[in-house]
Amino acid sequence: MTQLSEIRQRWQALGAKPEHAAHLLRRWLHARPLHEDGRRRMEDWLPKALLAALPAIEQELHALARVVSSHPAADGSARCLLALADGQTVESVLLPRSEGLCVSTQVGCAVGCTFCMTGTMGLLRQLGSAEIVAQVALARTQRAVAKVVFMGMGEPAHNLSATLEAIQALGREGGIGHKQLVLSSVGDARLFERLAALGPGQVRPALALSLHSTQAERRAELLPRAPRLEPAALLEAGLRYARASGYPLQVQWTLLHGVNDGDDELAALVPLLRAQPAILNMIPYNEVDGLPHRRPSPERCTEIFRFLNQRGVLTRMRYSAGQDVDGGCGQLRARTAPTGVGQRPVVRLQLA
Ligand code: SF4
Repeated sequence: MTQLSEIRQRWQALGAKPEHAAHLLRRWLHARPLHEDGRRRMEDWLPKALLAALPAIEQELHALARVVSSHPAADGSARCLLALADGQTVESVLLPRSEGLCVSTQVGCAVGCTFCMTGTMGLLRQLGSAEIVAQVALARTQRAVAKVVFMGMGEPAHNLSATLEAIQALGREGGIGHKQLVLSSVGDARLFERLAALGPGQVRPALALSLHSTQAERRAELLPRAPRLEPAALLEAGLRYARASGYPLQVQWTLLHGVNDGDDELAALVPLLRAQPAILNMIPYNEVDGLPHRRPSPERCTEIFRFLNQRGVLTRMRYSAGQDVDGGCGQLRARTAPTGVGQRPVVRLQLA
């Protein structure tokens, strides 16, 4: 896995000053050739050794991720299966709204959510920060990207340093508005500590928390290897960051028929989220062959939407993108990877 910090160090060894490195990153992250710049001659500006290495640098950056297959859907989204330099594959999704892109932070995932195909794989390896931002550079060769959500394969809090390094680069050289960088997590004490420590000169992302239940026991069944934080305490930590950052907390809730779509859950959500700086995203489950869960009926989804909004919980009903093309996270990889679902993790979870 390649980190941006390693790449920067290699460029520094070739004589690059911070402004040269920032320039090259900017060109790459906007899908523009490194050796061109309309305003000045590269020969007059870049150190000689760096200039000579540009073709090799460009080749290395392009090799970080390449499109194996692209699957456009009727809703305007496109799910892409990407190959990394070592042949491992991850998914990213061009979203139909807001020029958004959903990126992966790990190959597989250790959390093991019972409704997610990626969770059945275990963690195969971490992505380096360069591999995370490469998904954006690659997507920009196809269309504009103005928003990046870290909701693809993997749990960002389990690859925290690389994810935060990628966020800094996307907010600076990548030109993406800080509020448009949405870090999604099941919640982890270290994540809240690191977010709180981001200073005024650093890029602060928006935060999305995957809650899925207000009851600790039910949540532990659904997200078996997520940190054991009480749902109310988890929300409070997220809301604290929302108040500090000025961005509303996004609360993710995959609606599962007969599991977390009951009146008990709705009643418990109201005092937790009413009049708080939060948006509750209810996501009716996208059914997956081989996994046990079912989607609630459209009538029940409407009832839930009305009940919560009428009681002061700002609720949106969101449908996951690209449902007609293996829309659940991890399905493309599971269908196409030769080793596929059920492959045992080859590395232990490493927390960064
Ligand atoms: S839903 Fe997210 S955290 Fe849960 S297993 Fe899938 S990728 Fe991991």
